[in-house]
Amino acid sequence: MSTRAIAHTRKLLAAGLLFAAVFSAAPLQAQKCTVSPAQVKLGGTLRIICPAEFTSAKLNDRPAKLYPQTDGKRFGLLPISVKDAPGTFSLLISRADDGAPQNLPVVIRKTIFPSQNVKLTPETEGLHSTPEEMALLTSFREAISETRSWADPLAPPVSGCMTSPFGVKRLHNGKPTGEYHGGVDQRTPEGEPIRAVTAGTITFARQFNVLGNAVGIDHGQGLESMYLHMSRLVVAAGAAVQRGDILGYAGSTGRSTGPHLHWVLYVNGVNVNPAQWVKLVPCSTAAKKR
Ligand SMILES: [Zn+2]
Repeated sequence: MSTRAIAHTRKLLAAGLLFAAVFSAAPLQAQKCTVSPAQVKLGGTLRIICPAEFTSAKLNDRPAKLYPQTDGKRFGLLPISVKDAPGTFSLLISRADDGAPQNLPVVIRKTIFPSQNVKLTPETEGLHSTPEEMALLTSFREAISETRSWADPLAPPVSGCMTSPFGVKRLHNGKPTGEYHGGVDQRTPEGEPIRAVTAGTITFARQFNVLGNAVGIDHGQGLESMYLHMSRLVVAAGAAVQRGDILGYAGSTGRSTGPHLHWVLYVNGVNVNPAQWVKLVPCSTAAKKR
């Protein structure tokens, strides 16, 4: 055999061994669930992928359902709230049958959120939600539909830079509100189209005292989005939308200090950081680049 032929044989042998290793590991791998990211910030979303027999997950007291996917696996989202405690925890993943559950470590990282003051006029500060509005928003967050309409990657609803990130502690006219920013604000001129981040069904499209003209979309399997302060709405409840469809036009209705888009992502009813899902450039960074 020539040197060349020997090298070729060695390569084949190596490939064969590699194949054998992958092949023998495959049945073991198939029994295991994975969670990502392994280290998550406050406001982050965990993605859990499992073999079909695993049907639910739980982190501390927060449950998450794992839904059957078209590839035969199960998939679920589990939100980490801004108000959760950092630390190392065990994600418990259970089966529908009496098979052994699985435990995966999850590190919730300490996350520092800045403070931000918002100047409000007496008229805008005096706006409050009605009990009927509060009830509608609660039922929107709590309704989790089984059919998945959403797909990665989500699209930004507008192209403008981010004037206020997720999680900042909010002050109104210098007074702490005890609330955090549950979404992101993007700079948007009045009248710019606001687009759906991914496919779904419109749950509501109407006027609210504080939120202004707002749209809520159910994307299925625990993911929802909401778009606020629009000047005009062009969709109605019950309509199906695709990624990028126009929902309405930017404005400054409700408790707002000027035209912008405030939008929110919910996972199983918990506000999560949209910046983990969509690439958003802070206006401070955008200004430096110019
Ligand atoms: Zn906002």
